[in-house]
Amino acid sequence: MSLRVGPFWFTCKECYAGIVLLDYEMKCPKCGRQIPVFPKEKTLFTDNAISTMMFYKKDHGSYQPLGFFIENIGYELLSFTYAFFDLLEKEQPEDKKLFLDKYINNIEIDNDERDGYLKKHYRDGIAGVLTIYENPGFKEYLEDKYGPMPKEDNFLLSFLKKVRRWFSNLIS
Ligand SMILES: [Zn+2]
Repeated sequence: MSLRVGPFWFTCKECYAGIVLLDYEMKCPKCGRQIPVFPKEKTLFTDNAISTMMFYKKDHGSYQPLGFFIENIGYELLSFTYAFFDLLEKEQPEDKKLFLDKYINNIEIDNDERDGYLKKHYRDGIAGVLTIYENPGFKEYLEDKYGPMPKEDNFLLSFLKKVRRWFSNLIS
């Protein structure tokens, strides 16, 4: 089963950079402008990533989904995040943050103009997920925020429905 999510992203009014919602207070990763108004009803990238990672891992054993169509920078960042954590668990490096730096250096972004700020932006996004991975852990983080997960077999699926807004549809 593949799960479709739509990470929220927007465009900077000053420099037109695409920005994924990493926090409800953030600066534009390209021009540095403090972004004044945030859509607080939108789910943070971190929650999109962690929920779907737990789902995929349980469903088929890897964080990477079985099929994934990248249609915007939100999906692009998700895709890099999934690949990073699969690699992390395969390689088991001591210094996970250093491992992330190397991973980011090696990723390819399709044009130089985007590459200039997106690598840093993507690093911030994945680092946020990594921090939770190390402490308190994905399950603990989600339960703390959204309440306990039901115990039944499809617990993640029913739980994911509680994570609001981004749960667009399911494809069997
Ligand atoms: Zn900007």
